[in-house]
Amino acid sequence: MLLPRRQFITQASAGVAGTLLAGLVGSVPGCTPAQSAVQGKLRGAGHALGHRLRTPGGLPAPAHTQAVDILIIGGGVSGLAARRALHQLAPGRTTLLLEMEADTGGNAAAGHNARTAYPWGAHYLPLPDARDTELLAFLQETGILTGYGPTGLPIYDETALCHDPAERLLLHGHWQAGLLPEAGVPAADRAEIARFLAEIERLRRATGPDGRDLFRLPLDWSVADADARQLDTESMADWLARHGYHSEYLRWYLDYSYRDDFGVPAAQVSAWAGLHYFAARKGRAHNAPPDAVLTWPQGNHYLAEALRRQGDGRVQANTLVFSIKEINNGQVEVLAFDNATQQTTRLLARQVVLATPWHVTKHLLAAPVTLPPLAPLHAPWLVANLTVAGYPGGPGQPLSWDNVRYGSPALGYIDAEHQALRGFEGDEPRSLTFYWALPTNPLDAVAARRHALASNYADWRTLVLTELDLMHPGLAAQVQAAELWVWGHGMVAPTPGYVWGAARQQAQQPLLGGRVHLAHTDLSGISVFEEAFHQGLRAARAVLARPANS
Ligand SMILES: Cc1cc2nc3c(=O)[nH]c(=O)nc-3n(C[C@H](O)[C@H](O)[C@H](O)COP(=O)(O)OP(=O)(O)OC[C@H]3O[C@@H](n4cnc5c(N)ncnc54)[C@H](O)[C@@H]3O)c2cc1C
Repeated sequence: MLLPRRQFITQASAGVAGTLLAGLVGSVPGCTPAQSAVQGKLRGAGHALGHRLRTPGGLPAPAHTQAVDILIIGGGVSGLAARRALHQLAPGRTTLLLEMEADTGGNAAAGHNARTAYPWGAHYLPLPDARDTELLAFLQETGILTGYGPTGLPIYDETALCHDPAERLLLHGHWQAGLLPEAGVPAADRAEIARFLAEIERLRRATGPDGRDLFRLPLDWSVADADARQLDTESMADWLARHGYHSEYLRWYLDYSYRDDFGVPAAQVSAWAGLHYFAARKGRAHNAPPDAVLTWPQGNHYLAEALRRQGDGRVQANTLVFSIKEINNGQVEVLAFDNATQQTTRLLARQVVLATPWHVTKHLLAAPVTLPPLAPLHAPWLVANLTVAGYPGGPGQPLSWDNVRYGSPALGYIDAEHQALRGFEGDEPRSLTFYWALPTNPLDAVAARRHALASNYADWRTLVLTELDLMHPGLAAQVQAAELWVWGHGMVAPTPGYVWGAARQQAQQPLLGGRVHLAHTDLSGISVFEEAFHQGLRAARAVLARPANS
């Protein structure tokens, strides 16, 4: 059960790790891992630099002016995909990409320890829909898609396809294979789960009156049908209740799935998005089952780096954009602060792709621009990369790529070395990446984020090690390092009304006389690689729809 938001805030603000833990992990008799020996530090996306957006008057006046053809702001997957598309579709045009962080990739960030690279955020891509030819072309150019089989289905690089065993769930003290609860689940619950899966299968195949799939990725390719979109007005939890789904095992599985991809449980997700989550997955491959995923030790940073290589034009990191406005001659004036030189440059751009999250975008585009009333909910996230001297075993299924505890408020961990093509000695250290979508709701999201960012390293370490001990009793004592990252704004949650509300549709329209094009997963309402890739592509096409010299 998730801790009610207000209770979490009260406890977090008390600043006492034990109180915070009692709320988030539950009562843990006798669990006091020896922690002070565990080394590491707390990181996060450039909060200090980003927060200077709140007081732009404190940033220096421009020292130079520079003209650019196409300026891309934000080097996450959306911005990098726009840059790659612009290079491929219009190789003669020049681009400049500005990124606030020291590296591009955005939420698809990665780090490493002495043993391996590991993800700090996005870590996998499910098999793409074979009809998404643009995404497939990117994967082929990257070498992940190696060809097509006799049936016409893509063949994927075996080293990128998640190896066996892929998933395990700690349920009733036993590790079962797969995350859908099975071991010891009563017959009535199994029947309900089977009914839900049959309904998903029906929706997966369903098409609307216009012949389009009811659910597709990217989501804007789904059927444009008022009846289907009606599902966006209620919560997934209400939809489940209305359709007689009460099984605690099914409800847990769905809450887990939505927290894993959206950061929030079924009660905060629209029914359209909750059904889309399962029914839009239509990936197929010649050499893998439909539910296979593509993953790398550094997670989706691998894909972000490939996008960057396949683009062209200068990339300038450590640079905070803090103002965008239209000037008299129809150009766009952008002010950018270089954190390395501590100087501001005034850039005059013909066209701008603005690939920043909405909480940034709305600060950059000040009045007189009228912005759509988009109000995305972003849950804060904790990601922890642990180096553990012992093997995370237990009864049942062995260590898998994804390892989850039934009933946990956390999301479990990924074995960062799962794709390593070598054997492991029994006592070799392991690198585990923990994921935790911290509870939030629209009424107190700001306070929740503030408290998440204010909590200290020791608080978070206690939280993670206690969860580890619940999964593997005694293992927390063998943790050598715990590197932590808190995302203040993890990813957008598709709350009721967000995906098919008017504000999201308006946000796809160009601004500032058609010269500024927004591109970010906040404009999709679902934050996955496929959406980011297509956001970038859409923005690049919108840029090129305007004559180069206008
Ligand atoms: C913990 C976590 C796990 C995830 N796991 C997965 C997963 O397994 N698979 C998956 O597909 N997706 C996952 N996601 C979702 C992931 O966010 C998307 O797939 C995608 O990477 C989002 O890309 P984006 O470009 O839309 O946004 P972002 O990644 O938010 O990129 C925005 C960029 O803009 C930059 N920026 C912001 N403000 C400024 C400014 N003023 N000036 C200059 N630059 C600025 C930021 O630094 C950032 O680089 C995960 C997300 C999180 C947080």
